[in-house]
Amino acid sequence: MKKIDLRSDTVTKPSPAMREAIANAAVGDDVFGDDPTVNALQEKVAEMLGKQAALFFPSGVMSNQTALLAHTQPGDEILLEADCHIFYYESSGPAVHAQCMVRPLEGVCGALTGEAIARRIRPKDIHQARTRLVCVENTHNRAGGRIYPVETMRGVWNVARERGLKVHLDGARIFNAAVAKGVPVTQWTALADTVNICLSKGLGAPVGSVLAGDAKTIERCRTIRKRMGGGMRQVGILAAAGLYALEHNIVRLAEDHANARRLAEGLVGLPGVHVDPPATETNIVLIHLEEECPFNAVELNAILAEQGVLLVEFGERIVRAVTHLDVSAADIDLALEAFRRVLGKN
Ligand SMILES: *Cc1c(COP(=O)(O)O)cnc(C)c1O
Repeated sequence: MKKIDLRSDTVTKPSPAMREAIANAAVGDDVFGDDPTVNALQEKVAEMLGKQAALFFPSGVMSNQTALLAHTQPGDEILLEADCHIFYYESSGPAVHAQCMVRPLEGVCGALTGEAIARRIRPKDIHQARTRLVCVENTHNRAGGRIYPVETMRGVWNVARERGLKVHLDGARIFNAAVAKGVPVTQWTALADTVNICLSKGLGAPVGSVLAGDAKTIERCRTIRKRMGGGMRQVGILAAAGLYALEHNIVRLAEDHANARRLAEGLVGLPGVHVDPPATETNIVLIHLEEECPFNAVELNAILAEQGVLLVEFGERIVRAVTHLDVSAADIDLALEAFRRVLGKN
């Protein structure tokens, strides 16, 4: 039986052409700064994001956590959205690495406003933490791949500038936002001090994230990365995959978005589930299980897995499907058939 793996856009496997780029990569010891392919990737990402410098990381978590360390002192407070990756999925990283308090705020579709930030900035006072950093996420994973409205993010940026806060953008899927909106990524990246992008999500590379920012901050991050154990040697073989992904796999993200919308629209009207196609802005579909649905998320996923369709639980009665470059429109139709078999047709 064919498996249709919609668990995440991280499950993609490097294509033959990407493997060829890996095989042919020029390499050197990157701890000495000698790897030409890593340097090329870092320069390319810095340029694409409109930043002075960039640094390659083995994972998005290490990239985000390094940014937090670079921007804060122990005891500082970080404002972030309550469902964001840094708060939800990074194993208490902010408490362990940067040793900061995090103040999670309820967002709208994953987005915080400038006013929401302004209200929570603490006064300079011996009793209080120093509010130092705001983290935003675009697209927002747990909100279902929602795109941060540029004007909303500009509100955050303006407040941060005025009040002396730094802004870190977790742009793991920022290219999905740019492709979906048909605008350059710099619309968002210009509104943040540092930006993390993931090469290993919809872009289809096997490994890697890149952190971009001003030259001084990124130089600091190089030291922090080494301390975290992230100094890598002939890592051009991974950077080559990243370069390939940036050159070949951005424009095609539109196909993933069309497939996500196809899935969402196909699920509308099936008994027991609720999906919102207009809210499916990028490659993530959230499927809410209504009260009448006889299964919870874990049960539904187990039954669908028997039919070859793999999803993840995203809450007791929410499942998530993610489209990516190893899933076709025909696969989505097969997945929809499995849903109809399991849920009934209405
Ligand atoms: C995947 C992801 C990350 C980083 O994850 P890694 O698995 O460590 O690469 C960070 N932020 C968001 C929003 C993500 O989706």
